[in-house]
Amino acid sequence: MLSVKNLKKDYNGFIALKGISFDIKENETLGILGPNGAGKSTLIKILTCFHNKSSGEVKINNIDIEQKNKIKRLIGWVPQDDTFYHKLTVYENLEYFASLFQIPRRQFKEHYKELLKLLQLESKENAVSGSLSGGMKRRLSLAIALIHSPKILYLDEPTAGVDPVSRRALWEVIKKIQKSGISILFCTHYLDEADLLCNKIAILKAGSIITIDTPANIKKRYGKTLEEAFVKIVNESS
Ligand code: ADP
Ligand code: MG
Repeated sequence: MLSVKNLKKDYNGFIALKGISFDIKENETLGILGPNGAGKSTLIKILTCFHNKSSGEVKINNIDIEQKNKIKRLIGWVPQDDTFYHKLTVYENLEYFASLFQIPRRQFKEHYKELLKLLQLESKENAVSGSLSGGMKRRLSLAIALIHSPKILYLDEPTAGVDPVSRRALWEVIKKIQKSGISILFCTHYLDEADLLCNKIAILKAGSIITIDTPANIKKRYGKTLEEAFVKIVNESS
């Protein structure tokens, strides 16, 4: 599905990614954990075609990331900030973003109700987006990221700043998305959600992946909880 080989990013002499490699198979969810400044957002910006890589190779289903128009149809992206227009209703936002992807009207009409159901936003179809709660706004951003039926979803700290109850609702939604067969890569600072949602975890520090394994193996090797293991791995590598 996604294959990343020896990926490097150099910001005018500052090396933010020092040659990282990993892959994500169909149906897999990879969590990227790492302290601030590790390079998580840089990685997501390259994968979403916002930044150019300096060197290395990124492919999705064997299509090179340089083929940006093809890649953009295969990926969905939820950044940390809201991606939608606050003054439009939920429906109008979905309609607008579907039009950006040139999704035929009939196809959109058939698809959007399903999406609202998946994201538990059915009752909010005609609500003004800016009036939604924090958790619902995240779910709307997720709905927009899924509007063109991508094969892989990139989430940058999907539950940051969301209350504990809404976080759990988001986890349920993410689990449903996983069941629908979409691959996911997400960055998070919450070790509990990484443990719950990821098949594999990569720990990124100062531009290098220092460990990549299943949550169970990481805990077996480094600590009782993922949090304990994470702290140990990050401290040991310094
Ligand atoms: P994270 O998301 O893990 O906190 P970032 O990818 O945002 O990390 O940043 C990684 C490093 O690259 C940081 O040291 C940051 O200061 C640097 N960096 C990020 N974006 C830029 C940029 N546009 N120009 C120069 N340096 C940058
Ligand atoms: Mg970041």
